[in-house]
Parts: sequence; structure tokens; C-alpha cells
Amino acid sequence: MSDSVVDSSSTHGPVESPDVVVVGAGLAGLVAATELTAAGRRVVLLDQEPAASLGGQAWWSFGGLFLVGSPEQRRMGVTDSAELAFDDWLGSAQFAPGADRGEGPDRHGYAWARGFVDFAAGEMRDWLHGKGVRWFPLVQWAERGGYPVRSGADGSAAGAHGNSVPRFHVTWGTGPAILEPFVRAALDARAAGLLDLRFRHRVTSLVMTDGAVTGVRAQVLAPSDAERGAPSSRDVVGEVEIAASAVVVTSGGIGANHELVRSRWPRSAGHLPARMLSGVPDSTDGLMIGVAADAGAALVHEDRMWHYPEGIANHSPVWTDHGIRILPGPSSLWLDADGNRLPAPLFPGFDALGALQHLTERGDDHSWFVLNKAVMETEFALSGSEQNPDLTGKDVRLLAQRVLPGAVGPVARFAERSPEFVWADTPAGLAAGMNALVDATPGSRGHVDPASLERLVRLRDEQVRTGLGKDPQVVATAMARRYRVDRLIRVSPPRPLTTPKDGPLLAVRLSVLTRKTLGGLWTDTSARVLRADGSVLPGLWAAGEAAGFGGGGVHGHRALEGTFLGGCLYSGRVAGRALAAELG
Ligand SMILES: Cc1cc2nc3c(=O)[nH]c(=O)nc-3n(C[C@H](O)[C@H](O)[C@H](O)COP(=O)(O)OP(=O)(O)OC[C@H]3O[C@@H](n4cnc5c(N)ncnc54)[C@H](O)[C@@H]3O)c2cc1C
Repeated sequence: MSDSVVDSSSTHGPVESPDVVVVGAGLAGLVAATELTAAGRRVVLLDQEPAASLGGQAWWSFGGLFLVGSPEQRRMGVTDSAELAFDDWLGSAQFAPGADRGEGPDRHGYAWARGFVDFAAGEMRDWLHGKGVRWFPLVQWAERGGYPVRSGADGSAAGAHGNSVPRFHVTWGTGPAILEPFVRAALDARAAGLLDLRFRHRVTSLVMTDGAVTGVRAQVLAPSDAERGAPSSRDVVGEVEIAASAVVVTSGGIGANHELVRSRWPRSAGHLPARMLSGVPDSTDGLMIGVAADAGAALVHEDRMWHYPEGIANHSPVWTDHGIRILPGPSSLWLDADGNRLPAPLFPGFDALGALQHLTERGDDHSWFVLNKAVMETEFALSGSEQNPDLTGKDVRLLAQRVLPGAVGPVARFAERSPEFVWADTPAGLAAGMNALVDATPGSRGHVDPASLERLVRLRDEQVRTGLGKDPQVVATAMARRYRVDRLIRVSPPRPLTTPKDGPLLAVRLSVLTRKTLGGLWTDTSARVLRADGSVLPGLWAAGEAAGFGGGGVHGHRALEGTFLGGCLYSGRVAGRALAAELG
């Protein structure tokens, strides 16, 4: 998607007396707005950022979509079904008892989950395919779980966390390619006089008339030439009030607002560290969710979040504290700040939240992957459109490097430039480098004992040499290679870390990377925002991350990955269609 397609100083006239104001021009807002304009409604779409950032987080995303029973899965020999996917979903969500009977605060999240899984197993792929979206054929296996299958005593909490099969479909062209059809539709709607795209408009309150939302008040911010994703000023040059029959909130989550993230982190899971990286642009500030709450909207599950423990500082930052997530294969040893191995099944790529909570319960501000150069070259991938120029640029020649020896370009650049990549020939040397990095980081805590690390690596290598072994991680890694995509590009053949020809040992310091907000504005199954007593707050609708991707928390406690973009597509579509129908 070209960045020059949208100009902020639109030559198109403003839409007078809009039917709907949509707040936030990310993926959810674009989908809702284009569904509304497709039904003939007049829409004003506001965003606090300049036109350069149109599309919000989705542009930066890896473009991974949770699809179920797809042709891509079948071609890879994967058998999947809506029933299996929903069981996996419930095992991960752990919705509160009664949700399946329409009771309690999770009742709408549960209903959204059922709807979303059916959409992911049904209409979603054809709908997107019809808009020109295509997928990389090698389906990836994210969030593998690894806990024993069980059933809750009351039957409401079936199964255990994780994807039983690979479901993460990377879009050909990554995030920008998912946005592309919706940006195109928005520009068409603007040309038809149905959509007014107003950038640098920051909504600060909702207008209420007789208990119903009837518009927004917004600050007009000074023009900004900030590049895509970069922080822009909050200098105010004016104020406007826009009246409409309904307002849709699609303002994203809270991930860039570390203060809010820390204050909402569940106390039972310890503390998030003072030093964290941001996996989202500064625009993901969460303030609009508070604006909606001030107008009477109920917020639910605010302590449910989806941040990653595997963040590394970006050597070329775009936004504040810009971090990149390593998408790890399963072979690296994962150690806490004091060099202890994380317990099973907290292996890389198995349970993001479980690993994070383990570390925050300990009070760690970092953890470590310990591996060697050969494992890094096979298993390290990075999340984000800009970190995957081959897939984003649809460059087949560049893509071929993924199956050739050596790290792909972006990983190689981190390996060369990042001070968080510590290299050494021996475990003792590695421990010395790890400790030096911690000592050089103000406020950081932790010490890796060289002799303990040496023993840990030796015991792990001993297990690998058996060709079988009892170590659950070694067994899980060998199992993963039964899947042909893992064998081809994601999982290293099991080999001792101390194999000289596999290159030096490597320790990568990992920091908490904030990303997704799983709770949010409580909505019913039509995306109408609810008050705390469960009644509808007239005139207010919400979709995307601001609404916990549907219902105030479609994921429950944990996510299966690829469900965020999908959740924005689904909830934006539901909101747009239901509101268009209600407007008559
Ligand atoms: C690097 C990266 C990789 C990712 N990879 C994946 C992936 O592979 N698969 C997946 O499923 N998900 C992925 N995600 C997550 C996914 O991209 C997001 O959850 C999703 O795009 C959120 O969309 P949204 O429309 O709800 O919010 P956003 O994209 O955050 O858009 C919200 C918009 O609202 C605007 N706004 C906020 N407040 C106001 C206000 N008061 N007034 C006016 N405007 C306001 C913001 O400026 C912003 O433009 C990734 C995210 C990132 C950052």
C-alpha cells in the first residue's frame, strides 16, 4: 500500500450532517466505516494522527491471520475444524463459569468468540480473497500451549491453552496488504462524498443528549509531518463538535501507555518492570477508552492483556521505546534473570502470557534466550511488516533466503548491531557477557552464575545427544519437526549447543514488549456499547482493540495469535453492518 494515496488536506468537501462519527482510522475503524458507506451512510472518520499513519497498528503488523480449515492448511497436511478451533479457544480463554449459558461479564466475550471462530472457519477467507488478499502458503504454528488437556469441573472451561494445529496464515504483503482493500474502499467512499477522513482530530469527549451519545468534541491538532508511526505533537489549534446519530469507537488499545498498562496488570501476577519496550506506536494511548467510560460506557476485563516477554530494542526506532518481538522457534534455552530455566511448558513459542507472568511474578525486568549461531539462523524470525521485507514486498527472490543457510537480513542486522545479542565461545564467557550487560543497565537486576550455565548447557546437550531423551523441551522440539513447515524453515535439527561448527554461543536479552489489550469497552453481539448494568448506552458502538476485539474480551485470558487483525476485521464488520441496519 503506497503511503502517498491519502492526503490530509482533502480536496473533497466535508460530509455535512454525518450519520456516524467513527473515532480511529485503524483497521477496525476502516472496516466499520467502509461497511457503513457501502450501505449508503454518511460517515466522518477521525484520527489524531496525520494521514501518513492511516491504518494504525495494522500497517506495522506481520499480517498473521487465524484461519481454520483453510486450503493452505490442507496443503500442508493439517486437519482442522471449527469444533477443534473452538475447543482450543475455550481452553485458552478460560472464560468465567456461566459464560456459555449467557451469564456473567464474559457472556458477550463468549458469544463473540463463537461468532469469530465460525467466521475464521467460514466466510473470512473468501471475503478477503474476494478483495484480493492472498496468503503465504507455509502456515505457521504459533502458541502451541503444551499443557495437559483437561476439562473444568462445571464443563465451562474445556481443554487447555494453545493451538492444536498450525493456524497462523501470514498475509502475502503482510499488514499493509490487509489494509489495502479497506483503504481503497475508504478513498472510493470519499470520492463518492460519503466519507470524510479528518486527520489530526483528537476526540476528547462525547456529546450526550437525554442519556444518548449524539456526537463528539474534538481538538484539532497542529499539522504534523511526522512519518508513519512516529510520535506527533499534541499542540491544539482549534476545537470542533460534530453531531451524528451514532458514534463508533475504534481507537485501539492501551499498549503505548505504560503507566496505564502497569496500573492494570493483575496484582496476582506480580509487577511489570519499570523498563519496558513498546510494540505499538505512541498513538495506542488508550485515552479514548476513558473518554467513553466518562460517558457511561462499561469497561470490562481491564487486567487482561497480551504483552510479550521476547522483546528486543529496535536499533532503528520509529516510536518511543520501540521494541521488536522475536518470533522464536522452540530450541533456545529460556532463562530468567538469575539464569534458572523457565519451567515446562514455557518453551519459546508455547505460552506467551504464561512465560510473561512467570517473570513478572519473580520481579524480573528481563530474561534470556541461550542458543548458538546456527539455531538463531534457523529459528529467529521478527514480527512486523518492516522486519519482513521479503513477505511485505512480495519479493520471491528475497524470500528464498529463508530456506538457504544463514540468517535473513533483518535478523542478521540485529545480530551485528544489537548490544543485547551477546556472543561467546564458552558458557562461562557467555555468562560474563550477560552479567556485564545487566550491570551496564541502570535499575536492572540479576546475575547468571557461569558454572550453573555451563552445567545447564551440558545437561541439555547430553539429552539431545541421546537422540531421544527425557527433557520435555527436547522432546517437544523433535515433535515439532514432524510438521513439514517447521522442518523446512522454523525448527533447527536437534543438535548440541556446543557444536563448534554451529558457531559461537549466543545469549539474547529479552525485555517485556507491550502490545495488545484483551479487555475494553463492553459490547453486546451487535457491537453496541453497554453500561455497567448491562443495558445499552444509546448511540455508542465499539469495535477492534478498544472493545477487546469484540464484546469487551473475545479472547478471555489468552490468545491463539492472528486473532487480533481477524478480531478487528470481524468486529468492525459486525459493527458497521449492525449500525447501518439500525439506522434504517
Ligand atoms: C508490530 C505489530 C505486529 C502485529 N502483528 C499481528 C499479527 O501478525 N496478527 C494479528 O492478528 N495482530 C497483529 N498485531 C495486532 C494488530 O495489528 C492490532 O491489534 C490491530 O491492528 C488494532 O487495530 P485497531 O483498529 O483496533 O486499533 P489501532 O490500529 O490502534 O487504531 C486506532 C486508531 O485510533 C486513533 N485514536 C486513538 N485515540 C483517538 C482519539 N481520542 N481521537 C482520534 N483518534 C484516536 C489512533 O491514532 C489510531 O490510528 C500486530 C501489531 C503490531 C504493532
